[in-house]
Amino acid sequence: MENESNRLHIFFLPLVLQGHMIPMMDMAKTFATSGAKVTIVTTPICSTLFSRQIERVHQLGLDFNIQTVKLGLPEDWENLDAVTWSQNQVELLDRFWKALSLLREPVLHILEEHRPDCLIADLFFPWATDVAAQLKIPRLAFGGTSFFAMCTMRVIALHQPHKRVSSESETFIVPHLPGEIKLTKTQLPEYLRQELDTDFSNLAKEIVESELKGYGSIFNSFYELEKDYADYYRNVLGRKAWHIGPVSLCNRDTVDKALRGMEAISQHECLKWLDSKKPNSVIYACFGSLTKFSPEQLVELAKGLEASRQDFIWIVRKDKNEEQDWLPDGFEERMDGKGLIIRGWAPQVLILDHESVGGFMTHCGWNSIMEGVCAGVPMVTWPMFAEQFYNEKLVTQVLQIGIGVGSKQYADFGIGADFVSRDDIEVAVRRIMAGAEAEEMRRRAKKLGEMARKAVGEGGSSDSDLTSLIEELRQHKAARESR
Ligand code: UDP
Repeated sequence: MENESNRLHIFFLPLVLQGHMIPMMDMAKTFATSGAKVTIVTTPICSTLFSRQIERVHQLGLDFNIQTVKLGLPEDWENLDAVTWSQNQVELLDRFWKALSLLREPVLHILEEHRPDCLIADLFFPWATDVAAQLKIPRLAFGGTSFFAMCTMRVIALHQPHKRVSSESETFIVPHLPGEIKLTKTQLPEYLRQELDTDFSNLAKEIVESELKGYGSIFNSFYELEKDYADYYRNVLGRKAWHIGPVSLCNRDTVDKALRGMEAISQHECLKWLDSKKPNSVIYACFGSLTKFSPEQLVELAKGLEASRQDFIWIVRKDKNEEQDWLPDGFEERMDGKGLIIRGWAPQVLILDHESVGGFMTHCGWNSIMEGVCAGVPMVTWPMFAEQFYNEKLVTQVLQIGIGVGSKQYADFGIGADFVSRDDIEVAVRRIMAGAEAEEMRRRAKKLGEMARKAVGEGGSSDSDLTSLIEELRQHKAARESR
């Protein structure tokens, strides 16, 4: 434990989306466990959504604080996840990205009042670098993704290989990056594909500039998982970075895992159901916090799961405006005992860690991939937007622990995505669940899971990086205070 005079006070500014909030909460818990005082700056609605987890860290005796600040959007839009997706997404997103820059002044005031020693802010707040500089403290950036995806994004922006193909579906190699990574233009975001000048493309430029000016970046990853790309990011792209993950492993027991994120439904029902199944017999299908499937795709997915003859747990995001029953006729009756459909928020880490779960159908959000790796399960990859297509390459090509379902078209939130047929779903599920190929992937995934645990254990690669970061921040604090 640190003495009060050199004790660090670290501020965290997460983006108010589940996929960014959840790992930052875990990260703050990790820093607090190593003796720092931590404060999270977030919106009132997010602090309510995470209140059970906050109560839990207080019970553990950690110095974990919350400061709330309004985003300036209507009340139920303060956290994008709380929004019903059938509303006008484009308009909403525009307002959301704009509202993020309005946080600058209120956040500066809070920081001036509390005088922390470091600001760990989401990459989506590029102005955080200047705000930290005003206070003469380091700003660390957190993008919530892999080294692999960051390298791919930065290399594509630098070398623009997508401009040298003659059609959207022609493959190009991401130049200079280890592993001969092949992509198509269809897998890139629209602003890159079409060379558009939008609010988002401008934000993307500001993000790169602030990354270059900032103190460094912090990754929810571990060195052994993506060594070549962690090295490339540091040595070739010349960025300073620390890997301290998988951060979800800071939730050691069932209570911590269950209280992570939003309040999950059916926790007990889920675990009881899984207890009745054989090891590695269930495929868990979940597509993160933002993805939305069309009713036609939901029907096809149901049919694909049924055709695979595999037991499954399937999480379907609840849409407030859509009460329609899209399930195929008699599906729930036929699947009674074989499939569990959860409409809403599931206790993902608890489910993945159950021994009956033998595979994970995922949209390739980075948290989900890290959680799948920790659980040691092979994956069916079904990317749709953001950096998900890049993460898919890491899983299927580099780590060889997954099979793609065949989606190739970038589509924000999955709206207008490729239609994936029941046959493709069935084949991918079968391939990761049973047979020699599945066993080989499962063996590799389990080994990675063990490496993940070692990385965060005492003296492991992530534990060492965390220790050296804390030491560096302490020296920074001492130098600042002696001036
Ligand atoms: N998650 C969960 N229950 C759900 C859906 C998602 O606990 O029903 C968690 C999941 O464990 C992960 C996060 O939400 O930590 C989603 O992050 P990810 O990067 O995978 O995807 P995103 O939501 O950002 O697309």
